[in-house]
Amino acid sequence: MTYFEGKVVIVTGSSTGIGRATAELFAKRGAKVTITGRSAESLEITRQLCEKAAGGNADKVLSIIGDVTKEEDTKRIIAETINKFGQLDVLVNNAGAATKPGLQDSHYSQPLEVFDYVMNLNARSLIALDQEAIPHLKKTKGNIVNVSSILGFRAYPSMAYYCMAKAANDQLNRILAIDLAKEGIRVNNINPGPVRTEFLNRNGEPEAARDWVEDNIIKPNCPMARSATSEEMATVIAFLANNDEARFVTGQMLVADGGMSISSPPLPTNAS
Ligand code: NDP
Repeated sequence: MTYFEGKVVIVTGSSTGIGRATAELFAKRGAKVTITGRSAESLEITRQLCEKAAGGNADKVLSIIGDVTKEEDTKRIIAETINKFGQLDVLVNNAGAATKPGLQDSHYSQPLEVFDYVMNLNARSLIALDQEAIPHLKKTKGNIVNVSSILGFRAYPSMAYYCMAKAANDQLNRILAIDLAKEGIRVNNINPGPVRTEFLNRNGEPEAARDWVEDNIIKPNCPMARSATSEEMATVIAFLANNDEARFVTGQMLVADGGMSISSPPLPTNAS
């Protein structure tokens, strides 16, 4: 029996990428999972993967189509989970993107409408979900894991609003961790470096850009010389969410980036 057997876990943004792999891993380890996102089609793929990971038990997976930037949807995600499963043990705040759909990036010169959306998705929505989830987490002595980014503490001008939002996410993590420790609730962030998902394409980049970024930005600048997989992020999230293994860990930013954020750009080898 694994730690997560019988636990109830919500993973936002689980229709693709890191969220999908995370939901699948929790299902495999015995949890009942709520998966959620806006795309019904992608969410259905995740639902099937989770059902299979749960040994074919469809009753252990709740699929909710919703937009976390809308408060009626964040309320519904928590309420429907409690309604179906009766408790909540882990909230994984994973949904995120660097820009507003249809707009190019979140450079500081982009319209404030982009700022409002990016802040809402990557920071405000966490507050909305946390506020609804905390009364239930108090009962189970559960925990929260937020998916932030190394861009919460490293600056990347073409994603200015995104960097600001992830920095807010990192501060919220610390503040909640202090506040909720007395309730027995832990709160932690994972701060990934580049992960090979649909993230870049959502930022308006063409499919081929992923290979270009891999070869020209990541390989030369990341000590491990590659992007991560979603599955590699999922195991870190599951560690942070495990009240046995990570029971004395709270308010932390666990950087999982192949060493990218600790390294400096390489010096030219022919310098004399
Ligand atoms: P994906 O684009 O593959 O996944 C993003 C997920 O968020 C999707 O399930 C998407 O579902 C959901 N989502 C986006 N907007 C909304 C919304 N308004 N309401 C509800 N759900 C939404 O990217 P990743 O898996 O890479 O991203 C997951 C997290 O990881 C994000 O927080 C991202 O910032 C973070 N991250 C990613 C990195 C990377 O290099 N990939 C690096 C560092 C951090 P749908 O479209 O169905 O709504």
